[in-house]
Amino acid sequence: MAIWNPWHGCQKISPGCANCYVYRRDESIGKDASIVTKTGDYGLPLKKNRQGDYKLTSADGIIFTCMTSDFFLDEADDWREGCWDMIRQRKDLHFHIITKRIDRFSQCIPADWNDGWDHVTICSTCENQDRADYRLPILINLPIKHREVISEPMLEEIYIEKYLATGMIEHVTCGGESGEKARPCEFKWIQEVRRQCIRCGVSFTFKQTGAVFVKDDKTYHIERKFQLEQARKSGYSYVPGMGMANLISYKLPDRKELFDGLSRSKFRSRFHLSNKEKAYIYEKSIEEIRKHAEDFVAKRLSPENPDNDGKQTPMRGHPVFVAQHATACCCRGCLEKWHHIPAGKVLNREEQEYVVDVLMEWIKREIKSIDK
Ligand code: SF4
Ligand SMILES: [Zn+2]
Repeated sequence: MAIWNPWHGCQKISPGCANCYVYRRDESIGKDASIVTKTGDYGLPLKKNRQGDYKLTSADGIIFTCMTSDFFLDEADDWREGCWDMIRQRKDLHFHIITKRIDRFSQCIPADWNDGWDHVTICSTCENQDRADYRLPILINLPIKHREVISEPMLEEIYIEKYLATGMIEHVTCGGESGEKARPCEFKWIQEVRRQCIRCGVSFTFKQTGAVFVKDDKTYHIERKFQLEQARKSGYSYVPGMGMANLISYKLPDRKELFDGLSRSKFRSRFHLSNKEKAYIYEKSIEEIRKHAEDFVAKRLSPENPDNDGKQTPMRGHPVFVAQHATACCCRGCLEKWHHIPAGKVLNREEQEYVVDVLMEWIKREIKSIDK
């Protein structure tokens, strides 16, 4: 990877900008980051070494462009055309442009942009739901060959599944905020977006925890040097079909605490077996019902990305379906939230057995309580 900063300095326009690292870094050396200037690196893509070869080569990997400003900043309108000229000449490289100004894209592209250039990725940021709902409809409707989304600093839980489901977004990155004034980032927000990506077959990167990271209601202050590493080690990045989630370590809940929690949940504790379902169990035998449970779990819950995930379990029609809702074994989202089994992995034999055990325990408790 290489960085090309053709200009430096920017204007804050969005909640994500509040603690912008360009401002923070410039302030620390007494510089005003709101003054936008062309840099000495402006012509970098065409710069050559003494041998007459380009300094930047495809071996440098992705060229992250305009990382100390915004490529679509209006102050840079006079300089951008020159950048497009260089980008046009360097089709052997891949340019990656992150912007908070996707709404200026159409007025900032060259005449021969047509339906996009293969060697340019445009990545729109969305730090909260409001910015996601403003920017992502614009992003998915623009003529761009490679579209990505980044939520960093992630400021709240966001729902972007309807945009991902269009198939127009190739990759999503999430992460927390760094710096002294960093706002907290919650692990459950990261997990939520990751699940949305899994359901839509979109790859996902959990890039960094940020300085203030909240997990299981505990707040952790994480030193800068560990923020990237801890995110990477968590295993919560995802590429469809790569089996990455198998490396995630997790702990199943204590069974008593689980059932206590379920009984405290208004939604979960609403589910009970009807007399008809109870009669069905007596007619079939408990062993037979267990076989049905094994079958449902294997087919509807165990694949890495089950069909119709979130809606695969009917509300009634079989005692096991009722047990699934009552015990939060209805879909991979609930399984992750309540049982800590990560989404995005094929459930192994032990995990399937665990789920079936929980279902059968609930069914047996239910029969007992109905019998009383
Ligand atoms: S758009 Fe980016 S570079 Fe510009 S102020 Fe906001 S966070 Fe900083
Ligand atoms: Zn569910």
